[in-house]
Amino acid sequence: MSDELKLSLHRETVTAQALGRIDATTKAVVPPLHLSTTYLRDEDGAYRSGVGYTRAENPTYNTAEDLLSALEGGASTLLFASGMAAAVSVFQSLLPGDHVVAPRVMYWALRKWLSEFALPWGLVVDFIDMTDLDELRGRMRPGQTRIVWLETPANPTWEVSDIERVAQIAHEAGARVVVDSTVSTPVLTQPLQLGADLVVHSATKYLNGHSDVLAGAVVTKARDPFWFRLKTWQHDGGAVLGPFEAWLLLRGMRTLFVRVAHSSASALAVAQHFEGHPQLESVSYPGLPSHPQHEIAKRQMKGGFGGMLSLRVKGGERRAVAAAAVVEVFKRATSLGGVESLIEHRASIEGPSTPVPRDLLRLSIGLEHPTDLIADIENALARSADQFDNQPSVDEREPSDDPLQRYLEADVRPMVLDRGAELGECQVVDGVLELTVEGSPGALVPMVSEIAQRARQLNDDVYDVRIVSKVASEPLSSGRSAIEHAQQVVRSDVNPALAAHGGAIEVVSLIDGVARVRFLARCQGCTLAEVTLRQGVEAILKQRIESIETVLDVTDHAAGTDPYFRPGKAGGPPN
Ligand code: PLP
Repeated sequence: MSDELKLSLHRETVTAQALGRIDATTKAVVPPLHLSTTYLRDEDGAYRSGVGYTRAENPTYNTAEDLLSALEGGASTLLFASGMAAAVSVFQSLLPGDHVVAPRVMYWALRKWLSEFALPWGLVVDFIDMTDLDELRGRMRPGQTRIVWLETPANPTWEVSDIERVAQIAHEAGARVVVDSTVSTPVLTQPLQLGADLVVHSATKYLNGHSDVLAGAVVTKARDPFWFRLKTWQHDGGAVLGPFEAWLLLRGMRTLFVRVAHSSASALAVAQHFEGHPQLESVSYPGLPSHPQHEIAKRQMKGGFGGMLSLRVKGGERRAVAAAAVVEVFKRATSLGGVESLIEHRASIEGPSTPVPRDLLRLSIGLEHPTDLIADIENALARSADQFDNQPSVDEREPSDDPLQRYLEADVRPMVLDRGAELGECQVVDGVLELTVEGSPGALVPMVSEIAQRARQLNDDVYDVRIVSKVASEPLSSGRSAIEHAQQVVRSDVNPALAAHGGAIEVVSLIDGVARVRFLARCQGCTLAEVTLRQGVEAILKQRIESIETVLDVTDHAAGTDPYFRPGKAGGPPN
């Protein structure tokens, strides 16, 4: 490549011309696509071309990565197979015992991943209100907190965090600040210039912008040892982008500035039109003066407030879903940041433990004429109102006076049932919310941190959550070996819970702190066996028998003929 543009030119210019790189061989103004996964060595076996194998590097990645670095003002960019792969690579580069602070409102799949995988792997994660800097200061653990994760504006309520002030607090405690800037894009916000250390993008969204590429990126401020760990994780873990996707991504990025400007202007017009609308509870958009962090957004977002907003519909979930069902211009689909406008009822996507209000509709504003978009939503609200005015409203849930009990009934119980257990009595005792589980306690463990946060919001007395297993633990009999104790615990504490799934486990051996267990009957081949092992069986065995350090599964799961949760999309418990 040659003819590179000077980076001192406007970012719009550098972006439109994809850094101005011209292919040195053909003089093509569009960078070529290199599909080859492998490259010829020199005579002495070296790779002087700088390229050997696509999992480590591919020339097609370079321009997209370099352009993103230039846009963010970063030292280096690493492309990943998806936004999630990019985001989790940051956490996977930490070590067990490291502490992470993350926002309560964030992209739900990452919050779920942190609860279900990062916690069992040994990361300590606190979910907080990232707009409350005093709470952030109080949660920092100098020397142990490695990452403060921000998402701003945060999906899907669009809270805005103050990157500069968060960075000051995080840096004082020696932590790095990582900003998921997917929604703001480098056009509107450059987090590295405000003190962040890393920026993460779901490039699937605005960077590509055409809803036809799944991609992610991490941009780093420095090529430091942490960057090196990320780079190593990227190519060793293999969550790399395909060259064709990288090529499409670069093509999409060339129009980034005009797309973001258009979407931002239209989103503002839509938000202004619907603010105070008689059929809406509220409109969340950082560009509205009524937005709680509007002043921060004005400082931090330059040239617009992005293309994302949410509407809360009067009449609750059923009205909101009914309105989303009758749009004609908006597409009722997930994702965001494409040329076409999308509408989605988020709470039903995110599942029962979501903190998202159930009456919320998320809008991603694309490139259509804003008048058509406004008319479409007006029409959908009117049609859904007609539908409801002509039908007596049916209360979907038994109302209860206690909001915490209402939440447990409506949101937590269905999820526990779905995981094959049952939620028994739940009560607050001395500030601890005790949740009784009948069946495997592993059904509740992944949700505990979210339940704790929500419970604290709903009841000021709650400061912690404890799972109470309905199975009464037998005291360990004296004079027995450790393996006999383990077998006793399995008999008394574990297997009665697994019996609800038609399964069981047996302890095969216990040597040097390592207990080997085998899943039997319907637990053999069950897709949730790993979760049951890590969050139920291992937790119970380690708690009751001090000498146990690790529990290994030695089951031949492939030989399971009647698993409780079957693999594949149609999987799930038997009727
Ligand atoms: N971050 C944000 C803010 C998102 O909205 C998404 C996806 O919706 C992601 C990360 C994950 O990106 P991907 O779907 O590309 O894995």
